[in-house]
Amino acid sequence: MTLVNENYLKLPGSYLFAEIAHRVKAFKEENPQAEVISLGIGDVTQPLAPTVISALHKAVDEMADSTTFRGYGPEQGYDFLREAIVNTIYKPCTAAVSPDEIFVSDGAKSDCGNIQEIFGVDNIIAITDPVYPVYLDTNVMAGRTGSYDKDAGIFRNVVYMPCIAKNNFVPAIPDKHVDMIYICCPNNPTGTTLSKQQLTKWVQYAQENNAIILYDAAYAYYIMEENVPRTIYEIEGAEKVAIEFRSFSKTAGFTGMRCGYTVVPKTVAGYTKAGVKQALNPLWNRRHTTKFNGTAYIIQRAAEAVLTDQGQKEIKKTINYYMNNARIIREGLSQAGIEYFGGINAPYIWLKTPNNMKSWEFFDKLLRQAHIVGTPGSGFGPAGEGYFRLTAFGDTKNTIKAVERIKTKLKI
Ligand code: PLP
Repeated sequence: MTLVNENYLKLPGSYLFAEIAHRVKAFKEENPQAEVISLGIGDVTQPLAPTVISALHKAVDEMADSTTFRGYGPEQGYDFLREAIVNTIYKPCTAAVSPDEIFVSDGAKSDCGNIQEIFGVDNIIAITDPVYPVYLDTNVMAGRTGSYDKDAGIFRNVVYMPCIAKNNFVPAIPDKHVDMIYICCPNNPTGTTLSKQQLTKWVQYAQENNAIILYDAAYAYYIMEENVPRTIYEIEGAEKVAIEFRSFSKTAGFTGMRCGYTVVPKTVAGYTKAGVKQALNPLWNRRHTTKFNGTAYIIQRAAEAVLTDQGQKEIKKTINYYMNNARIIREGLSQAGIEYFGGINAPYIWLKTPNNMKSWEFFDKLLRQAHIVGTPGSGFGPAGEGYFRLTAFGDTKNTIKAVERIKTKLKI
């Protein structure tokens, strides 16, 4: 008899996006004339930067010539890209990251999901709530959580750190010991960030409690304000307690290209059951080289192009385009009298549903009255109930149209 991994059976199912698609389909069937605009997508819409396209063409031509053809590359990524990441991302933040602490991958989703493999199954995890679901689900699969409490919408043995308007979306330090702390900053879905002082408290907690921070900075390039750290390694001591995830997806339109990386400083360590200190960098190196065979050469050349001066100029133009959409949405919500958060250092706007409506109730109302699709906050965790996510990744014309409809058609 072949046994299955029963931890998978604890997962309540990926209900959110399937349910959205189902409701939108039903609405369109009933209202074939309605022009539905989606402000729900978490995917980019603008094309790759010209510099990236040139780098791709050049790399493709190299693959056509036996003298420049490349087969398997180093699993950790080519030196040209690891060095470019250090020089363009970390040096300007005075973060002392070295190329051999960087592991290039096919994206942050894989890395955020796979990293838990190098940690003991008895560790207690803490996650901010609401948040990107991958952190929790992958720990459920690994058996690091208890069973699912359907009524409360939580897994037992997981420490949820609610981030709501009342605490300014700043997670409180837990009142019991935790071992692995997931922080997503800028946050998906709330669009909020933590200041240097707030993040410093977490680094201190991790140092004092021998805990590890798993820091997802996939949206770091959207940070516009000064006092928000671009990387956790701007915080003193973080190089001893934090692993950072990065992605070219939202930064440079690479969602379909697939490239990200994880920084595992050589100074970050966990412990064996016997209490012996164990550096995490060699463990992740072992995992990565055993289970991953490298990101495609042409994609790494494209990522390298993103990190050139010209590439940086071009991607910032696109980011500004999305952040202008975010501004349009924020201003429209203000005029409609709807309270919102985020949208200043992130492409996500997190609105408080009017009259304490449930997230799904608001979803239906927005769809029926304004023909707009968004994402119900409750899909990101129990503390997301009563909130709703809009994204700035659409095109500007549609964003303006959608905002006009919110102001004129939505009855609150
Ligand atoms: N981390 C967060 C917080 C995200 O929102 C996303 C994508 O939506 C990812 C990681 C995944 O990024 P990638 O495309 O690099 O896998």
